[in-house]
Amino acid sequence: SDPFLSVRDLHVRFSTEDGIVKAVDGLSFDLERGKTLGIVGESGSGKSVTNLTVLGLHNPMSTTVTGEILLDGQELTGASNRTLEKLRGNKMAMIFQDPLTALSPYYTVGRQIAEPFMKHTGANKREGRAKAVEMLEKVGIPQPKTRVDDYPHQFSGGMRQRAMIAMSLICNPDLLIADEPTTALDVTVQAQILDLLKDLQQEFGSAIILITHDLGVVSKIADDLLVMYAGRAVERGSVREVIKSPQHPYTWGLLSSMPRLSSDVNEPLSPIPGTPPSLLNPPSGCAFHPRCEFPELVGGTRCSTDRPGLPAGRGAACHLTAEQKQSVFIEKIQPR
Ligand code: SF4
Ligand code: MG
Repeated sequence: SDPFLSVRDLHVRFSTEDGIVKAVDGLSFDLERGKTLGIVGESGSGKSVTNLTVLGLHNPMSTTVTGEILLDGQELTGASNRTLEKLRGNKMAMIFQDPLTALSPYYTVGRQIAEPFMKHTGANKREGRAKAVEMLEKVGIPQPKTRVDDYPHQFSGGMRQRAMIAMSLICNPDLLIADEPTTALDVTVQAQILDLLKDLQQEFGSAIILITHDLGVVSKIADDLLVMYAGRAVERGSVREVIKSPQHPYTWGLLSSMPRLSSDVNEPLSPIPGTPPSLLNPPSGCAFHPRCEFPELVGGTRCSTDRPGLPAGRGAACHLTAEQKQSVFIEKIQPR
């Protein structure tokens, strides 16, 4: 069967005063119903832009989008604002990083949660409020009948994120996009929110795209992983495969900068040396080559001239041979 969401050769470019930014540069992925895809990368890797584009929330004036985004067989790249508006909140919904900026301080939590429901179903205020109470209960807010009339500032950070989840699920969307949903929360609340998302996914059957810079977060709830660098996908596979035997030097870097649960909290992390490239003028060949330790294993100038492709299915966009990917990881990276 066809995947529920299929993105093919997506390119997203912005024109800025300084030139054209290639925010997404030839990205393809699929997502099945009821599954979770984790998209991981540093900021500026194109992961948020990709998802804003799927939702049609990019600025059409300064953005050029080419390629294909098929949601349940419907093409979204050329879709009208009206079509996208109908889909948003209803068939697809988004949870943003910071609920405090996404929620208005001037309206009650309940009214804001009910809004997409009232808009897409034509329900009245009373029905909207009842539905909001039901959703607050589902996301684990105590005394939902009272709290529904609270304002966002009366909620804790974790409760606000729960309220955002309630709002995004109120129309039972087929696709839920969560952009760094737990970044602003402390570790305990993070874990609770991730558990909640997972439970609600079982109940609602939504496909989820979880965008994060944190491999630890993604490994808790995602089925598949897509690692992005400089607007491109550099590695893909099941979470298990990618965490157990990562194949791309950038993924190795992400893994070694992950705090290890078993080790001393004070153990210094090893962040990836160097900085993400400018997308105004991305490096030639493999965009990771200025930060990579291994171009000499590939030989010659291949890494800086020849752009590696990402194979369909499990794999990494890197010129190292399969044997090199395995042995370098096991001998040099894993023991660090
Ligand atoms: Fe490093 Fe070359 Fe592989 Fe790019 S293609 S990740 S530069 S070894
Ligand atoms: Mg982002």
